[in-house]
Amino acid sequence: MGFTSAKDMNKLEKKAQRIHSKCLTIDTHCDTPMQMIKPGFNIRDEHHAPKSRVDLPRMKSGGLDAMFFAVFTGQKPRTDQNYIATYALANQMLDSIHSMVTQNSDLATLALKADDLEHIEKTGKHAIYIGMENGFPIAKDLSRVEEFYNKGVRYITLCHSFHNDICDSSSDAAPAEHNGVSDFGKQVITEMNRLGMMIDVSHASDKSFSDIVELSKAPVIASHSSVRSVAKHDRNMSDTMIKKLAQKGGVIQICLLDVYIKEPDTTSVKFKSERRLHKIYRTTYNSMSESEKEVFEKEWDDVQANYSSELPTVKEMVDHIDYVKNLVGIDYVGIGSDFDGGGGLRDCADVSQFPNITLELLRRGYTESEIKKIWGGNLLRVFRAVEKSAQKI
Ligand SMILES: [Zn+2]
Repeated sequence: MGFTSAKDMNKLEKKAQRIHSKCLTIDTHCDTPMQMIKPGFNIRDEHHAPKSRVDLPRMKSGGLDAMFFAVFTGQKPRTDQNYIATYALANQMLDSIHSMVTQNSDLATLALKADDLEHIEKTGKHAIYIGMENGFPIAKDLSRVEEFYNKGVRYITLCHSFHNDICDSSSDAAPAEHNGVSDFGKQVITEMNRLGMMIDVSHASDKSFSDIVELSKAPVIASHSSVRSVAKHDRNMSDTMIKKLAQKGGVIQICLLDVYIKEPDTTSVKFKSERRLHKIYRTTYNSMSESEKEVFEKEWDDVQANYSSELPTVKEMVDHIDYVKNLVGIDYVGIGSDFDGGGGLRDCADVSQFPNITLELLRRGYTESEIKKIWGGNLLRVFRAVEKSAQKI
């Protein structure tokens, strides 16, 4: 790329701001409800990264019109006690999202349909959509899919880091349990299709993914996944998967999590510290007391704060968007930050810095209509197709 003068840069920044504010912008994944259920967190207050990456003031300054708040529950052993506790936790998070919307009705509105976003944006408020990350709270009770739909959930990420009753996970070190989607998982997919809920393939194993794509009558989403050919990671999607996803009319929402964007320097202090903390998270975190969890989380936040300059950049994230565009076209890519769940880049550390992505897209020659598709148009197309296909069943 040639030299860009300060004056040209300024012009480009202004253009980026203008286009960004014209887009209906959607982020399909944040884990902020984990913070919302903690006493003292008020989403009306402006917080700071890395500890917090999403709140209403920063959604406003970052021009973010819609956010999918994830009801996230970590996968635990499937005991009766854990099923009960996880269902309760999911409902606690759902309640926290509903009361957040009620308490901030001057700034935010609950959104249930794809078309709601446009209406809500016109009122100058933010659209709050709900997703569910991990189908663990469904337990073995199919009727809960409709129960969660009625509570506002519009996508379910079928599994998380370990296999569950629905399907195999991309991250479980244990051998495949169902060789993809289980018989119960097939029923969950049919039920989600019937209701008009988006099926989220992020975290699913490659075999689960191909089963899901085959079984679902409607297009599916990856709410927060990146490209395996750009950054090798089991959580990212291979070229074959992206092609299948696109053939089905779905969308991959590029995730802003460091190791999904760039393969890490395994010799760095940051990598070693995170690896140690990940190990603790996977083995002993669940059995920790609340105060022990706080110490653990503080340590995690400190690592993030101390080494934030080593994080990948927006440029490296946009490389993933470029790759998908070149592979299958502009209609199949979007953005799902995973803020407050591990996402955050050097120059896009929270929702207020989203315009930096638009600026980089413009620098690379993306047109306004392409940028609109990335920021929400593609996701809305899939959402509408899912709604429409439900009406047909
Ligand atoms: Zn996730």
